[in-house]
Amino acid sequence: MKRSGTRGRVLARDDAGFDAAVLGTSFNARDPRRRPDMIVQANHVADVVAAVKRARDTGMKIGICSGGHSWAQNHIRDGGMLLDLSRLNHIAIDAAVGTASIGPGCLAGELNAALARHKLFFPVAHAYTVGMGGFLLQGGFGWNSRLNGMACESVIAIDMVLADGTLVHASETENPELLWAARGAGPGFFGVVVRFHLKLHARPRFVGMKMQVFRIRHLEEVMAWADAIGPDVSPSVEFQLVFNRRATGIFAHGIEVIGPVLTDSWREAREAVAFIDRGPLRGKASLTLPLVPMSLDMMMKAGERTLFLPNTRWTADSMWMNDAITPLLPALRSIADTQPAAPSHALWLNWNPPPTRRDMAFSLEARSYLALYGGLRGAARTPADESWATDHMRAMEAHSVGIQLADENLARRPARFMAPANLARLDVLRIRYDPEGRFNPYMGRVV
Ligand SMILES: Cc1cc2nc3c(=O)[nH]c(=O)nc-3n(C[C@H](O)[C@H](O)[C@H](O)COP(=O)(O)OP(=O)(O)OC[C@H]3O[C@@H](n4cnc5c(N)ncnc54)[C@H](O)[C@@H]3O)c2cc1C
Repeated sequence: MKRSGTRGRVLARDDAGFDAAVLGTSFNARDPRRRPDMIVQANHVADVVAAVKRARDTGMKIGICSGGHSWAQNHIRDGGMLLDLSRLNHIAIDAAVGTASIGPGCLAGELNAALARHKLFFPVAHAYTVGMGGFLLQGGFGWNSRLNGMACESVIAIDMVLADGTLVHASETENPELLWAARGAGPGFFGVVVRFHLKLHARPRFVGMKMQVFRIRHLEEVMAWADAIGPDVSPSVEFQLVFNRRATGIFAHGIEVIGPVLTDSWREAREAVAFIDRGPLRGKASLTLPLVPMSLDMMMKAGERTLFLPNTRWTADSMWMNDAITPLLPALRSIADTQPAAPSHALWLNWNPPPTRRDMAFSLEARSYLALYGGLRGAARTPADESWATDHMRAMEAHSVGIQLADENLARRPARFMAPANLARLDVLRIRYDPEGRFNPYMGRVV
């Protein structure tokens, strides 16, 4: 989504500019071929309250977008109202107390930049333009989330508009079940969050990046090494592998071993990423870069200039897995062999979560994570390019314990995204707070 400087308006299907306004809400340049009946571009919280009451009085369903980065374009449905919150983007920081209050339309990069001025930190999304609204609601795998926790765990309260148009506050002590649901319900949340109250963290004093690149022929060895060493990697390193047809430095099909690291000193960071230099495959690497100091801002922007390009038709799909990597190697080889041109890429992430988390809707994660991002800029080379992400994830379903809502693709491939007991509890809350089904449910229903 491109942030508009213009004042928000209400547009109906027949109004000039309607299509552009609807499609303009989406980072994904794919046309979902769904259209709401109207779009309400809210300027203030009062506009949201009025819009929800209008939907209630006229029997319309509501889709919501903040930053518009849902890969599946979950907010664009057929019929009803699309509520665009991108203009609700304020940031108010209380540095003395260590808290912030933000609008859902605030972007990850904007919040990070504002906090940097106070030497404070929040585990924002990895790409600059991701909206905080959808990111926080789905859980939020942010920078340093292996250390600071899921971003939603640092949400201490929300202000939200319920299906009947009431504006309520929810915290651990006031309407706690609403905060429970807002920590992980993601694209199936049953209200409109108009303000998030955040607990802030101390800012890591060193941010850097370590990288090593292998030709794709080494895929099996590199994956086996990464999977074995993963549990021992410091949580300050976001250890990941990316399959890319234009891998950095070799401009050919390769595997990028990437180690962004956020610590309090250069020395600590060097020690944390040393396992890459010392790896048994280092002699086979085409390229090993030294640890390069960077700003978080630079890393967030770099991701969107290299891997996550705008103006691209994206399809993402994902799976969490606990299985050892060896039985998956033939499937991973097939993913690489059929991988469309860049910016399409596959991401394997070393996660190894803590044994327990607080009680919240977010409740599904595993040892490692695999996501496929099919990104087409021109015509597809073959029809299989269009469904690369979904087809491979479907083929590997036996190894999956579920998906991330961050990279959901539920309409094309329904899959588990929450622990069954948490989903059941969420359903009870949905019926209590949205008995008429005013807010769109998940696009594909789940087991
Ligand atoms: C380039 C890119 C990079 C990404 N990087 C990361 C990452 O590092 N970590 C990560 O965890 N995820 C990441 N994601 C996934 C992203 O966090 C989710 O798609 C998230 O939903 C985006 O939030 P948004 O506000 O931009 O999206 P939107 O499309 O606006 O929102 C997604 C859905 O959330 C719901 N929603 C949004 N705002 C509200 C609200 N205020 N009230 C109620 N419901 C609401 C709606 O159902 C909506 O359809 C990335 C996505 C992209 C495209």
